[in-house]
Amino acid sequence: IEPELAGDFGTLMEWADGKRRMRVRTNAETPADCRMARQFGAEGIGLCRTEHMFFDEDRISAVRQMILAENEKGRRAALAKLLPEQRGDFHAIFEVMAGLPVTIRLLDPPLHEFLPQEDEDFEELADAIGIGADTLKRRAGELHEFNPMLGHRGCRLGITYPEIYEMQARAIFEAACDVAAQSGEAPIPEVMIPLVATRRELELMRTLVERVASAVFEEKGRELDYHVGTMIELPRASLMASEIAKEAAFFSFGTNDLTQTTLGISRDDAGRFLGTYVEKGVFARDPFVSIDRDGVGQLVRLGVERGRAERPDLKLGICGEHGGDPASIAFCEEVGLDYVSASPYRVPIARLAAAQAALARD
Ligand code: PEP
Ligand code: MG
Repeated sequence: IEPELAGDFGTLMEWADGKRRMRVRTNAETPADCRMARQFGAEGIGLCRTEHMFFDEDRISAVRQMILAENEKGRRAALAKLLPEQRGDFHAIFEVMAGLPVTIRLLDPPLHEFLPQEDEDFEELADAIGIGADTLKRRAGELHEFNPMLGHRGCRLGITYPEIYEMQARAIFEAACDVAAQSGEAPIPEVMIPLVATRRELELMRTLVERVASAVFEEKGRELDYHVGTMIELPRASLMASEIAKEAAFFSFGTNDLTQTTLGISRDDAGRFLGTYVEKGVFARDPFVSIDRDGVGQLVRLGVERGRAERPDLKLGICGEHGGDPASIAFCEEVGLDYVSASPYRVPIARLAAAQAALARD
């Protein structure tokens, strides 16, 4: 893949790359975005949000069947339909990323986000999967949560329904083995567990991923390097970083949720008052755009220090929106992160900001 940034801008980027210490990755989950990010100079994927793949029109029926299944057997039957699709998703991404690190985050949002809302959509689904619309509505109602962002999402899904994460892990390792066999360039999957608050959560999920990896390697007759790590996006995870690091090869700071949970401000509703807050000097800048150094920043610093003290080779990155914000990138340099991950269009600015931050430290 050829760099997109030619001429003077390309020269400036090369100069910046010579100065920066931190790596720059991208947040992407489609092959098109991955390709574009590489043209902009991304050196890997820092966050592949797999939930976007579950919204795909062709598979939403199987996803809904999985969510509304009566029991594990029903869920597994629906997941079996999704496995080839997920394998295809990861296969395409590994091909584009050609041996660069790819961090794939297992399913994060609350399941009811995938469910239909309208009566007629329930009728359609009922016809498609052969369960009465009333039964489906009742089961959907049982999934209702008053506070879904603090509810049954992230690794909490993987712990209560391990078969979902098993399917995703299988898709990752099967695709990685297939790409390694075809291209000779072995992908480096990094499986990331979301919304971890305790060491035990990560231990359970790491063990699950390792079990699936061993089974797939045995079936394929091929061993690949891979890593299991976690998002740090809850204050408890930062505070307990030394314990959590015992189970993790890497941490990626999810500063969107970490900001939400530290400040107690909903990331989806903050627009209503944050403008006034900035105007009146409560915050110097919108904390969802630029890292709140005094609060969230302290938790990031603590997470870095405690994590590294336990495990000196712990790889550390950031994948919240702040990873593409120059002021936040300067903060990431100060605390010693290994990489930032930004959306594809922000990769060039992140390369430049990382260089400026490194120079400012010299
Ligand atoms: C985060 O919380 O910062 C993050 C990157 O995950 P998401 O935005 O998908 O919750
Ligand atoms: Mg998050």
